[in-house]
Amino acid sequence: MPKPLTLYLAAPRGFCAGVDRAIKIVEMALEKWGAPVYVRHEIVHNKFVVDGLRAKGAVFVEELDDCPADRPVIFSAHGVPKSVPAEAERRAMTYVDATCPLVSKVHIEAERHFQNGLQMVMIGHEGHPETLGTMGQLPEGEVLLVETVADVARIAPRDPDRLAFITQTTLSVDDTAGIVAALKARFPAIVGPHKEDICYATTNRQEAVKAIAARIDALLVIGAPNSSNSKRLVEVGRAAGCAYAQLVQRATDIDWRALDGIRAVGVTAGASAPEVLVNEVIDAFRDHFDVTVELVETARERVEFKVPRVLREPA
Ligand code: SF4
Repeated sequence: MPKPLTLYLAAPRGFCAGVDRAIKIVEMALEKWGAPVYVRHEIVHNKFVVDGLRAKGAVFVEELDDCPADRPVIFSAHGVPKSVPAEAERRAMTYVDATCPLVSKVHIEAERHFQNGLQMVMIGHEGHPETLGTMGQLPEGEVLLVETVADVARIAPRDPDRLAFITQTTLSVDDTAGIVAALKARFPAIVGPHKEDICYATTNRQEAVKAIAARIDALLVIGAPNSSNSKRLVEVGRAAGCAYAQLVQRATDIDWRALDGIRAVGVTAGASAPEVLVNEVIDAFRDHFDVTVELVETARERVEFKVPRVLREPA
């Protein structure tokens, strides 16, 4: 007789408007120009999504140099340094920029502060494509990267009174608040957004995890190991008191022995994880437990972004 289990399903979870748009861009580009269409970097950080698009004719590469000049190329949702579209233009390539408009907004902020003579501090994760893309909007050395409160003490700006900060969009809201507070304490004149640049989708998914954390014995976050917002959801779950919080790419990753004896589990998905994988995980729980699903909805999302005009026009 399977044991009873309440599965608290966090909402919002899964695809955000930026991911939805980026995937549509690749699909529409394939329709418009036929295969192959090249994509610089994983369009979104999810193997299931990438494999699906690859099967339709998308070719994923890490650098523009790996794309032939006579095929269209798409830049991923994370954004790219300015040098990338500049190089595509130099090679007369057809390109479509799938950078999420909320990442582009941060690029514009950085540019505006730079034009006003301020040096930038970016709160972000070193090596993440979004951080590389945002830092690459400004000349080399103009952006100081901080990842932790400790980093704030280490940076050496040109002029401590002429600084602005920006952030990656997929950070932990709570950790970032601590770093912003440290920046403001050390550099009282620093200017920046009202709170940070963390997007609505990241914020909402973290809030939903906090809302279920107290009721659950374990949290499963469906997402890829290189997905920043998914990894943050695991951390948020742990910080909210959930001793067992794990990232799984799909149902086959679940460690059932570790879940032996639990009465309540929380399930959510990062912004690049499709709902089909959520359903797969729920079905896997039904194979092991007598499951009651309870939806815990902390926000409703109605954000939608248009695809670039070039894809809306006939070929
Ligand atoms: Fe855009 Fe936020 Fe989604 Fe990133 S997580 S693609 S910034 S909406």
